Amino acid sequence: MATSTLRNKVLTPGSLTMRESSCFYCGSDDHCDYMVEDFIGIRSCPQHKQWAVRDCRAYCRERGTIPLSWVQNNEAIAGLLTFLKAGAKVKRSSGKLEEWILAPSKYREKPYIFRYDEDCTLPMVARDGSASKPVFIHQLRELNPQIDPELCNKASKFLLELYKTDLEDHLAAQT
Ligand SMILES: [Zn+2]
Repeated sequence: MATSTLRNKVLTPGSLTMRESSCFYCGSDDHCDYMVEDFIGIRSCPQHKQWAVRDCRAYCRERGTIPLSWVQNNEAIAGLLTFLKAGAKVKRSSGKLEEWILAPSKYREKPYIFRYDEDCTLPMVARDGSASKPVFIHQLRELNPQIDPELCNKASKFLLELYKTDLEDHLAAQT
C-alpha cells in the first residue's frame, strides 16, 4: 500500500467534478465518493471513510438538511414513513385537504428532510407527482389521527438530535 502524507484532518463537502481522483484527506488512489447532494461531497479512501461520513453529516447538521435516503431505514422513523408511503392528508396552500404520499427516492428532485428549531419537515408529493412540498411532522400528526402520535413524536425527536455529535466531532477535529 502506498504511504501517503495526510493533507487534511477535516473537510467541508464540495464539488466532486473536475477534482483529483484521490482521497481528499491523504491523496490515496483507492477512493470512494460520499455525497450530500448530487456531485457535492467528499472523496475518501477506506481508511478515512469515517472522517468523510463525519464531515458530510456535520455539513448536513449545520445546514439543517438531511437526505431522506440516509435515514429512511432507521427504526426511529421507519414506522411513520410506512404510514406516509401509503398516503396521508396534507393541506394545500389553498386550504384544501388532499391525500399525498412520501416522496419516493426516484422522485425528480432528491427528497430532503429540513430541520428547524422545534420540528422537522418530511418531503411529501401529490399522488400524481404534480406537486410537492415539505410538511412539518406536527402538521401530519394533526391532520392524520390514524397515525399513532407517538410515531410522530419519536421521529421528530430523533431528527432534531440527528448528527449533533458528528458536528461536535467535526468542530473538535478542526482545532
Ligand atoms: Zn485517505
